[in-house]
Amino acid sequence: MGSIEQAAVPSLRVDATQLAESLHESCQFGAAHRYGKLSTETGMARLSLDDSDKEVRDWFMKTATSLGCKTFFDQMGNLFAIRAGRRNDLAPIMMGSHLDTQPTGGRYDGILGVLAGLNVLKVLNDNNVETEGPIGVVNWTNEEGARFPKMAVSSGVWAGAIPIETAWELREVTPHEGKPKSMKEELERIGYKGERAASHTDNPFAAHFELHIEQGPILEDEKLKIGVVEGVQAFKWFDITVRGRDSHAGTTPLYARKDAVLSAARMLVAANAVAKKHNGLTTTGIISAEPGTVNTMAHTAKFTLDVRHVRNETLDAMVKECEAEFQRIAAEDSEQGCEVEWSLLVDSPAVQFHKDCIAAVEESASEVCASLPGASSSNKKLWIPMISGAGHDSCYTNLRCSTSMIFTPTRQGISHNPTEYCSAEDCALGASVLLGAVLRYDKRRPQ
Ligand SMILES: [Zn+2]
Repeated sequence: MGSIEQAAVPSLRVDATQLAESLHESCQFGAAHRYGKLSTETGMARLSLDDSDKEVRDWFMKTATSLGCKTFFDQMGNLFAIRAGRRNDLAPIMMGSHLDTQPTGGRYDGILGVLAGLNVLKVLNDNNVETEGPIGVVNWTNEEGARFPKMAVSSGVWAGAIPIETAWELREVTPHEGKPKSMKEELERIGYKGERAASHTDNPFAAHFELHIEQGPILEDEKLKIGVVEGVQAFKWFDITVRGRDSHAGTTPLYARKDAVLSAARMLVAANAVAKKHNGLTTTGIISAEPGTVNTMAHTAKFTLDVRHVRNETLDAMVKECEAEFQRIAAEDSEQGCEVEWSLLVDSPAVQFHKDCIAAVEESASEVCASLPGASSSNKKLWIPMISGAGHDSCYTNLRCSTSMIFTPTRQGISHNPTEYCSAEDCALGASVLLGAVLRYDKRRPQ
């Protein structure tokens, strides 16, 4: 890619009111969990491929058609809306995210990225911008993995990382009546199992840009407006089993015990210390003990361990240190001693987004943020480079095309919650950065 003069890209903005209106219009399908008096003060329960998801899909296709886009969907029900450019032999630059939510989700996670994409196309129309190649929007099916338990499964199929049969056979885990339905059955039921292959070879992209709420507190805490996301941190998930010996709580002196729960508790504390030392994260979300009576110490304690770091090597070092510490605690710090076993559940290496996409987002963020009042008075940069703590569809598209992401502030860092919130102004700022990034990337397409 060659470099170009900044002036070659028109300085356009997405309108805050229009974006907010269209976002909330799309949220009429699946609105749930009211928390305030305003019509927009509800969360969402729009589970992938349920009736409300069908309704919002119909709405998306209608809206995109009214914007003059060509629309289609593939065998995973991924929706595509393409606005033609000057040369339509070129692959489209896609703006993508997801319209499905958690059962107790909010109005922004995923939804903002898709609605920002549609609004970017509207701004291009309103300003008669002719792009070099096509620009489009994609809604990825079942990103949340809430109803069908595989996160970002449909971008995974598109990228060739997950076989389509595996995806189609996933069965719903959220409450349902009768036999759990498969993704394929539900795609057929709502009429969104397309003919076209869900494949990056059949349907290639020039690039994929994803605008998303941060889902963490950093931008808000530091009074910043935009995160230029350079990658996604690595994580590994483990099941840990600690084996001791069950015996009577009243007749077994402390020195004579093999107490699996005590041993596990010390391991959790040790894992937390390892995380602090390396500036990483360790989390235990599930813990259980057997046999489970008040007056017997457990013979077995099981817990999950989620370990994260931005660098693969440091993540591996953290896991090694946890292994050594857990071994020591089991052998030496559990009275008569316990045994510990590890089993790997998930191994997700760090993701590094594409430098050209990051550069396009950075330039766009500088331009958009420089025009804000806070920037001129304090000469303060209102955007920062960031690493995403969570996985996204962009991790899969990054395997097959240049990709990067943009973050917007999230009130109190809360997401996957009905009260999840990003102000209309901040949403529009993020969408304007998305717009500028797409235009810059389009200008630099290889000739
Ligand atoms: Zn999301």
